[in-house]
Amino acid sequence: MTVEDLYPVPAELAKSAWADKANYEAMYRASVEDPAAFWGEHGKRVDWIKPYTQVKDVSYDKDDLHIRWYYDGTLNVSYNCIDRHLETKGDRTAIIWEGDDPSDDKTLTYRELHEEVCKFSNVLKAQGIKKGDRVTLYMPMVVEAAVAMLACARIGAVHSIVFGGFSPDALAGRIRDCESNCVITADEGLRGGKTIPLKENTDKALESCPDCTTCIVIRRTGVETGWVAGRDVWYHEEMAKVDADCPPEEMNAEDPLFILYTSGSTGQPKGVLHTTGGYIVYAAMTHRYVFDYHDGDIYWCTADVGWVTGHSYIVYGPLANGATTLMFEGVPNYPTVSRFWEVCDKHQVNIFYTAPTAIRALMRDGDEPVRKTSRSSLRLLGSVGEPINPEAWRWYHEVVGDSRCPIVDTWWQTETGGILITPLPGATDLKPGSATRPFFGIDPIMVDNDGKVLEGACEGVLCIKDSWPGQMRTVYGDHERFYQTYFATFPGRYFTGDGARRDEDGYYWITGRVDDVINVSGHRMGTAEVESALVAHDKVSEAAVVGYPHDIKGQGIYAYVTLTAGVESTEELRTELAKWVRQEIGPIATPDLIQWAPGLPKTRSGKIMRRILRKVAENEYGSLGDTSTLADPAVVDELIENRMNR
Ligand code: ATP
Ligand code: MG
Repeated sequence: MTVEDLYPVPAELAKSAWADKANYEAMYRASVEDPAAFWGEHGKRVDWIKPYTQVKDVSYDKDDLHIRWYYDGTLNVSYNCIDRHLETKGDRTAIIWEGDDPSDDKTLTYRELHEEVCKFSNVLKAQGIKKGDRVTLYMPMVVEAAVAMLACARIGAVHSIVFGGFSPDALAGRIRDCESNCVITADEGLRGGKTIPLKENTDKALESCPDCTTCIVIRRTGVETGWVAGRDVWYHEEMAKVDADCPPEEMNAEDPLFILYTSGSTGQPKGVLHTTGGYIVYAAMTHRYVFDYHDGDIYWCTADVGWVTGHSYIVYGPLANGATTLMFEGVPNYPTVSRFWEVCDKHQVNIFYTAPTAIRALMRDGDEPVRKTSRSSLRLLGSVGEPINPEAWRWYHEVVGDSRCPIVDTWWQTETGGILITPLPGATDLKPGSATRPFFGIDPIMVDNDGKVLEGACEGVLCIKDSWPGQMRTVYGDHERFYQTYFATFPGRYFTGDGARRDEDGYYWITGRVDDVINVSGHRMGTAEVESALVAHDKVSEAAVVGYPHDIKGQGIYAYVTLTAGVESTEELRTELAKWVRQEIGPIATPDLIQWAPGLPKTRSGKIMRRILRKVAENEYGSLGDTSTLADPAVVDELIENRMNR
């Protein structure tokens, strides 16, 4: 690690930040030495109806697996996200909504949000939805999505959001899996100037979901849709019939808040269940510290509410903190590739949180579309979803952030409810490509394949030693799968499924999924490092690396490479890239096969699906496994056609 690779905390920022170096160290130590005392104190960040006297009760044992936090307390999440701010911040903007079309936007104050949520809660009740019922949301990024989430929370119904890009089959599977009796959707969604037939998809899905008997439809584009009398109702018509008085339901801390299916990068999605008290405490606290949120800041997370990032860091965390949160309906490249930065200027965004896939895509179009915007309001940048290649990190830092804004590379999972490993802007010096240090209360441990705990600088499998309040409580309807997936591999610890390296400063570098680790002649290698080396070459815009059976080495390295716009794919370039990786990392990492990939298979949330690439590399493309979460199946056909190993 060279000195240039360290980006120190800006001195000005440290002065005003919630955490600086000194209090991070002290608070971190306290948080892992006595978690019950620490979380007992921080549980007070939210308002309780009946305060808890018990903080933590956790066992990871096979026969007694349970996770409970604040379990004798009662509260309501919608109250915490709205009502408690009304007295002091009623007129503050809660949500800024930016439509797909740049001329389309609106804002909602906390008072207006309160009225909408109370009314929609009454609509749900009028439709017979009760506490404990599962309600599926299949929605575009409109304000009503946040309203529906909060209304469910208000009456104690459990929401399950299915990303609006999913197919009718994927939607039906998720509705049936959680036995949902109501679905909320829109006539159509609007993204990047194109419409998405949400109601039509819902109609198809419901053909195989006889127990889902209510469908509430938001009018977004006004297109004519099919209609099933007795099942379908219009949102706006029902809203006109109810009053705006709906007291929040008193919920136990361990009552379910939502179910969310993981994005399916590694296999069949899991119905992750989160509960009320611990989740909201953890979402609020991480949002406050990781984004160093101060009153009045304009905060924008570009995720979709269909992903956990949208749950914790568009809706629940920010609103619990009385923040102003921006919801964006569109995509980064519509109408132009400057859209993100134009929105930052238009709404004077201070904190901006996005995914590496978006950054890599925008990088491809060069600096000019970014440079021509001001971005002077930006103070902090964030990244989530995949390892961010150092090359992309530097571009994000220098071009987007004008070398002025720290980047928080936040590592976490649907399962963790909130961010676990991350810099704190006022406390952590940054290293491009590293998610850096654990958040308060998180004790990461590194183990080898035999479960032996590794000390100091090392490379291995990332586990978390103890529980934290935002942790998932079960896989919905399948507690055995919960145990098998997360606690069977290394008994007594939470197994993340991710590989990592810990350096001499105690910084963590996520190297990729454990399933994706490559073993070349006995040397274990994460995919992230080889990919980052490839992306660092100026002719490469994106890369995905997998292993494939190799007679001599055990496994060979197979690289899929997407070239920068306008670059020709020649044999010379292939040789040059292999040589380049050899120089950057070492002979052991030299790719054996390089396939040109005009596109890479990704989940709908933009993550590279290496398990599919592995199948193609192994020449086993007949058995690709679950492809329901794939964004563009045509990409795979192209790769199969031009595969290198046959
Ligand atoms: P599935 O579990 O169904 O395979 P998934 O793991 O992609 O899907 P998510 O919960 O959306 O579902 O993603 C969490 C995973 O994303 C992490 O386990 C990690 O592999 C990756 N990830 C998220 N943030 C980061 C980050 N900042 N750096 C590196 N990897 C990250
Ligand atoms: Mg996962």
